[in-house]
Amino acid sequence: MKNAVDVQNLSKNYGDTEALKEISFSVGKGELFGFIGPDGAGKTTLFRILATLLLADSGAATVEGYEVVKDYKKIRQIIGYMPGRFSLYQDLTVEENLRFFATIFGTTIEENYELIKEIYSQIEPFKTRKAGQLSGGMKQKLALSCALIHKPEVLFLDEPTTGVDAVSRQEFWEMLKRLKTMGITIVVSTPYMDEAALCDRVALIQDGSIMQISTPYEVVEAYPMGLFSVTSTDIYQLLHDLQKLPQAHSVFAFGQAAHLSYKKENVTASEVIRFLKETGHEDVHVEEIKPTIEDCFMELMQGSEQANERTSGRADK
Ligand code: ADP
Repeated sequence: MKNAVDVQNLSKNYGDTEALKEISFSVGKGELFGFIGPDGAGKTTLFRILATLLLADSGAATVEGYEVVKDYKKIRQIIGYMPGRFSLYQDLTVEENLRFFATIFGTTIEENYELIKEIYSQIEPFKTRKAGQLSGGMKQKLALSCALIHKPEVLFLDEPTTGVDAVSRQEFWEMLKRLKTMGITIVVSTPYMDEAALCDRVALIQDGSIMQISTPYEVVEAYPMGLFSVTSTDIYQLLHDLQKLPQAHSVFAFGQAAHLSYKKENVTASEVIRFLKETGHEDVHVEEIKPTIEDCFMELMQGSEQANERTSGRADK
């Protein structure tokens, strides 16, 4: 079976900035595929290339078998694209925005109402309100309705939940799951690591390179370290002191706790507690935990930074 998206060795530079470095991946038909990575990782650049709005410098990409450069007109008819920044016309009402997007694709709201019904019905009571006056969550529902109104085969959603409250984020992912059951392929990007768990497969992207592509379960299973969650009365001092623990591999802040990774079977919780008490910490709690996607991402990032340092010779200095 043909893939919905195929990308091979895609690169894009802006002057000296290498936004995408020879990335390759495929998305199967009907898959919910996530790009997870921080600001500046290259997500928007990639989505704009796939949506035929930006030209790559080299490499190849197809959507439903169509080439992004040669067949751009065809691709624009069969994809829905929701850009990261608010894409709607602020001075048009909710209904006018939706009608506008339906019209440019040669269809009507009525013709495709069934597909958007569940999402659009939540904002329909406000259909005469200007889009610029909607809440973040409502804008997001309208933008998704507009991206869906021409019944696309593939949806590209660039950071659709950034800046949206937690409840709306959750609702949004539930909507995506329902769209998936209708056979729509969804490629979505997010800086929120917790959303990775909701995808069929995720690509972890950083500095224009894909570090890993796998199911969320495999990402977590492949974590090579042991991990403790550590708390004490002074989190800042705790982060500082844990770095000095000889067995520490890495130390990161996670909310009010420190996550301490170590080579497996290298150190026990009671040894960590003793070390911290000796360095003057009080109320110390150490708990063995399973890694989250964020822990895995940090570990991969650290690995790639060390590799870069080795290549540039900085690690020896
Ligand atoms: P993300 O969507 O993951 O935040 P982007 O694709 O927006 O990543 O950006 C990737 C890199 O390219 C960043 O370093 C960003 O500063 C740079 N970049 C993006 N767009 C431009 C542009 N139009 N001109 C110059 N640099 C850009």
